[in-house]
Amino acid sequence: MRTIPHWINGQDVTPTSGNFGPVFNPALGEQQAQVGLASVSEMNSAIAIAKAAFPAWRAASLSKKAEIMFRFRELVVAHRDEIAGLVSIEHGKVPSDAAGELARGIENIEFACGIPSHMKGGFSEQVSGGVDVYSIKQPLGVVAGITPFNFPAMVPLWMLTNGIAAGNTFILKPSEKDPSVTVLLARLLTEAGLPDGVLNVVHGDKLAVDTLLEHPDIAAVSFVGSTPIAKYIYSTGTANGKRVQALGGAKNHMVVLPDADINMAADASVSAGFGSAGERCMAISVIVAVGDVADPLIEAISARIPALKVGPGTDPGNEMGPLITQEHRNKVASYLAGAAAEGATVVIDGREGILPEKGYFLNPSVIDHVRPGMKVYDEEIFGPVLSVIRVDTYEEAVELINDHQYGNGTAIFTRDGGAARQFQFDIQVGMVGINVPIPVPVAYYSFGGWKSSLFGDANMYGPAGIEFYTHTKTITSRWPDPATSSVDLGFPQTR
Ligand code: NAD
Repeated sequence: MRTIPHWINGQDVTPTSGNFGPVFNPALGEQQAQVGLASVSEMNSAIAIAKAAFPAWRAASLSKKAEIMFRFRELVVAHRDEIAGLVSIEHGKVPSDAAGELARGIENIEFACGIPSHMKGGFSEQVSGGVDVYSIKQPLGVVAGITPFNFPAMVPLWMLTNGIAAGNTFILKPSEKDPSVTVLLARLLTEAGLPDGVLNVVHGDKLAVDTLLEHPDIAAVSFVGSTPIAKYIYSTGTANGKRVQALGGAKNHMVVLPDADINMAADASVSAGFGSAGERCMAISVIVAVGDVADPLIEAISARIPALKVGPGTDPGNEMGPLITQEHRNKVASYLAGAAAEGATVVIDGREGILPEKGYFLNPSVIDHVRPGMKVYDEEIFGPVLSVIRVDTYEEAVELINDHQYGNGTAIFTRDGGAARQFQFDIQVGMVGINVPIPVPVAYYSFGGWKSSLFGDANMYGPAGIEFYTHTKTITSRWPDPATSSVDLGFPQTR
């Protein structure tokens, strides 16, 4: 069995803990590799290496840091197919989805290429006679990133680009379900000129995470994953005095007003509901159909589903791959099994129809007449299941969304600019799309949900990422006026 190595101090490192996790090929339903799960001492030694690398990396010039990011961007673009292929074979998403996540990740490298501008401080001259005040940004030290399985390339790039460019050294603990891509990204960063020890990829499970959360040399923790773990990371990390940003799960609603373009809304529902098999934290999970829009919309969605090709990413014609594990596939299927007993109507059941013989596949599903209080509505399903809730008015739609525990993303489909503007004012959700189903902000804004979708107050990447990974130091200085100074400056004073 192939063993996926850690990447520590600029090289592959063979795991020594003796504990391994399986890495499956979800499209074939079989184990393809194993990943070492770090012991406390393996993690401690990686942290010591990152700590030792910090002083020199911190002191490297901004132009050197930018130059490495520019080179890294070129290398990632050159290896685009290899990276997307690796994502596809371990995660299961089809290569076009994998290429899409990589494109969003590359945006974050491009943002980090501008690090000389992002690190600018402020300056106020002459706040008092001979007194100036200015602020500078400085890195925190050794910082850690803990990432989920569903975006094995993009989410690590959300974190490590700005974290490293700002002058920190980094420990990345990727998901143990699809860990290979981060090792490849680290190898490319080394090839781009990153000094050894600045980025270290250490694989592991709860033990590795807890070691990071408790270690005195870890200054900050970035986390993306499910809500219960995000809450745990936030409370444990902050209790240990660390800066923590912890992004959690989601249940994203798409409101369709009666004046919406039905074809546009149906296309958006299908791509945002079933892309990456619904395993996206910004996937649309609930359609909120206002007025009499539900019947024509469900009809239009149902008409599109048979054309959606489900199967392994190795076949370029396929548009939707498998779920990540057998266990997760069965959990998603259990929501379909329970929906009717809760009073909902399963319009299209993804357990039916033709599916590949092997692998963790489910077909797309649509459930109508869903209501709050049903498990299928209250919980994050994280699979290719679209629920439809019927409401009479815009106000009911807003109340419904604002009452939900999650507040990651939402969208409204309408031709009425006034209604759209009112929605962006009313809605208690972090990222809002207007006729855009998955409003993931570009890399020069920042990403973050509200309520149980984010713990802490720090959004991910963009300007918020730079803030998160830097301390502000403010300096007040006084220099005597040379004209009145009693100190002999050695040259004639003109004033
Ligand atoms: P997860 O919470 O199971 O795992 C995330 C990370 O936490 C992994 O690295 C894992 O090894 C680690 N982990 C798991 N259990 C742990 C424990 N008990 N103690 C310490 N660490 C632990 O999440 P996942 O299943 O990999 O990813 C899917 C989830 O992530 C979904 O809920 C999805 O909505 C969410 N997600 C959110 C965003 C966002 O931006 N808000 C983005 C992507 C994914």
